[in-house]
Amino acid sequence: MIQLAKYSLGVGDRFAHQAEAQLQAVKKAALSGVEIVPVWNKSHREHTTIGSRPEETRKAADAAVKAQAWHLPYHVDADHINLDTVDGYLAISDFFTIDVADSIGKPASDQKVNEFLDRHAELVGKIEVPGIANPLSTTIATVTEIVRRYLYAVQQAGDIFRHIQSAKPDGSFITEVSMDETDDPQTPLEMLVILAAIADQGIPIQTIAPKFTGRFNKGVDYVGQVSQFAKEFDEDLAVISYVVDRYNLPKNLKLSVHSGSDKFSIYDSIKAGLRKHNAGVHVKTAGTTWLEELIGMAEAGGEGLQVAKTIYRAAHENAEQLCNPYASVIDIDWSQLPSPEVTDAWSSKQYVDSLRHDPKCEQFNPHFRQLLHVGYKIAAQLGERYLDALESCQESIARNVTENLYQRHIKPLFFGLESRDA
Ligand SMILES: [Zn+2]
Repeated sequence: MIQLAKYSLGVGDRFAHQAEAQLQAVKKAALSGVEIVPVWNKSHREHTTIGSRPEETRKAADAAVKAQAWHLPYHVDADHINLDTVDGYLAISDFFTIDVADSIGKPASDQKVNEFLDRHAELVGKIEVPGIANPLSTTIATVTEIVRRYLYAVQQAGDIFRHIQSAKPDGSFITEVSMDETDDPQTPLEMLVILAAIADQGIPIQTIAPKFTGRFNKGVDYVGQVSQFAKEFDEDLAVISYVVDRYNLPKNLKLSVHSGSDKFSIYDSIKAGLRKHNAGVHVKTAGTTWLEELIGMAEAGGEGLQVAKTIYRAAHENAEQLCNPYASVIDIDWSQLPSPEVTDAWSSKQYVDSLRHDPKCEQFNPHFRQLLHVGYKIAAQLGERYLDALESCQESIARNVTENLYQRHIKPLFFGLESRDA
């Protein structure tokens, strides 16, 4: 069975030009003794928006690994797939993020619910989870409610897993189950029930992406109570260790933090939890790289800056349409968006300072940044003009892509942790 390493970083590369620059960031970490495995992820939604094909992601990743002589593992993730969309990824992916968020709340049959409850009498009453101060306390009613809410979604995950399994050699892929794209966070108790159900389905799950408390908006910092997040993250880690033993799930099972890029204010809490539990984590950073492409272009000036301005103007004009598919993961205050007339007159520095995620910079504008985050469709529509700019500005783009991942993400998240178990 291929195993996902203790620390892994999901990297998104919308236009398949930055894999080498991304790899440079994890190489720098490896040179400092911190081993982080890169996972190139691109969701079906992104492919559809851009008009790209899954093979291109695989090709770019393989080429970068070869060019950079990367010797640790790497993976290509079919991100947020379901039964309708998975087939196009079977040949090229060795990592599948099975997304069943849409099935949460759909009822499983009474018979299946009752079978689950009969099989899992241990979930009713007091459950002592090492690492959680007070035992989890449940009644048959609370457990039944959780089972009603999640069992159907887990059955769906089982169907999707078996579909992938029927098309791939045994043990040739990593399975993640994601439930993050929904409004209500899952509690540690819900995670416990969900993972018991996942074990029943025989899914060799190596990573699970719950919806955590608070908002994980795209490309900007965490919004919510950091202390509440820290408690929940810590308890989720305790639940993970518990279910691995109790339900015989893969030993390397770990949490996956989606939209994990730029959540600077919770990185300390994540790190503290990982240290305390000697746990691994998968952090998806996805679209943050695409914004570094814009920063690199703006920084280069000339045509690069013009392209970056053209994209903002079009994104501003098509804001509603661009934002709709991402409604649950962005919060834009329209009154805080500069008008294109204003931005057209900006210097390189003004554009870069407004976009780069440096919370200490007074010019930084999270609304501008979120709109551009969802604006990659505009870049795809520019076609050759965008791709030409990617190439002519490659030096400044690559520098920013590497720097962003290494300095703002890898260092605060992983440095000081043990990447190998003794
Ligand atoms: Zn996600």
